[in-house]
Amino acid sequence: MKPILAVWLIASCLLLLSACVPSNAGRSAPQVVVITEPPVERASATPSATAVVSLPQFTYSPSPSASPKPLNIVVENTLTPVPSATSASSLPIVFPTEGATPESAWRPPLYPTPWALSPYDHFYFARPFASNVVSWPIADYRYGGIFFRPEVVHTGIDLPADVGTPVQATGSGTVVWAGWGLLNNAPNYKDDPYGMAVAIRHDFGYKDQPLFTIYAHLSEVDVAVGQVLEVGDVLGKVGTTGFTTGPHLHYEIRVGANDFFSTRNPELWLVPPEGWGVLVARIMDTYQHPLPSHEIIVRSQATQRAWIVKTYGGIGANSDPYYNENLVLSDLPAGVYQVNVPYAGLNNRLEIQIFPGQVTYFAFQGFKGYDTELPPPPSGIISTPAP
Ligand SMILES: [Zn+2]
Repeated sequence: MKPILAVWLIASCLLLLSACVPSNAGRSAPQVVVITEPPVERASATPSATAVVSLPQFTYSPSPSASPKPLNIVVENTLTPVPSATSASSLPIVFPTEGATPESAWRPPLYPTPWALSPYDHFYFARPFASNVVSWPIADYRYGGIFFRPEVVHTGIDLPADVGTPVQATGSGTVVWAGWGLLNNAPNYKDDPYGMAVAIRHDFGYKDQPLFTIYAHLSEVDVAVGQVLEVGDVLGKVGTTGFTTGPHLHYEIRVGANDFFSTRNPELWLVPPEGWGVLVARIMDTYQHPLPSHEIIVRSQATQRAWIVKTYGGIGANSDPYYNENLVLSDLPAGVYQVNVPYAGLNNRLEIQIFPGQVTYFAFQGFKGYDTELPPPPSGIISTPAP
C-alpha cells in the first residue's frame, strides 16, 4: 500500500469514527451560553465549545419516538462568554438531541424533485425515508461538525430511525456498492466504520459532475451492485452496523467523485417540504476569513422557536462553489426569523425572511456586519437545467 493511501485510510477511519461515534476525548469544555426562552433546538453538528448549559446528559440513541424534554435553560438576554475549562476529559458529554426534538413530527409533503427555484440551487434528492418517518438531521450530527479534533469532521448527516426502517434511494441511479467495506474500499471488510452500506451513482449529474449518495450503518442490504434503482426504491434497512452507538442512517452526498473528500452538505441537496425553506450563510471575521465553529442563533418570529447552528469548515467539509457557505439550516417553515451572530462580545441581529422552497442567504463580516446580497455568479459556474 502506498504510504499516502495508508495515511488517507487512517484519516478516513478517524473521520468515520468521529462521525458516528461521538467521543468525549479532547473536547473542549462546554461553555455557558445563556439565552432567552423558549427551548432551543441545537442545530450545530457538534457538541460545542459554547454550549447551552444545564442540559441533561444523554447517551446518543436517536429515536424519532423520543418525547420532547424541556431544556433547563438559564434565562438572560445576551450571550455570556465563559472561560474555557482546562481539562476536557472529566467533563460530561452534552448531547442535547432529545431536548432538541421538535414539538411535532409532522412535515408537509416534499416538493417534487428536482427542485430549484434559482439557477444555483440543486434540491435534486428526495428523503431516504417514507413520509411517515421523521427524516431531518439530528441537530448535533449535521454536516461538517468538528468532533474530537479540529481536523476531523462529519461528512454527512445522521437521520434518526428505528432499526429495520426501510431506507429508500433518494434519486434514480445504479448501485455501485452494496455491503461491508465501503470506506476502506474492501468488500466484506467487517470492521469498516460504515458497516453495511450502499452507494448509488445517479443517472443525473450536476454541472457535468457525477453525483453519488451514501447510506451507511444498515442492518440489511436489499440491493446488489449493478442494480438500477428508481427514487423511492427500498435499498436496505436502518441498523447499527459499523461505528455507531445508536440506530440511525448516515447519509452523504458526493459530487464529482465517489470518495470521502468529495462530500457536500446534504441539506443543500435534499428537497424541502412544501412551504419550507433553507437558510444558508457565510460567517466571517472583519477580514473575510471564515469563522470556524461559530455559533449563531436563529429564532422564528412566529413561534419563538430557536435553533443554535454552528459553522463548519476544514478538510472534508466542502462548501458549495456558489454560496461558499459555512452554515446551513434546512427545514425552516417560511416566515420571518431573527438571526443573532455574536462577534467580539457584541450581539449582531438581523431580521430575515425564509421563503418557501428557496434558499435565503446572508453573509456576516465581523464589524462590517451583514450583507443579504446573493453572491455574484462565479465565472466558472454556468447555469444548467436541472435533471
Ligand atoms: Zn454520520
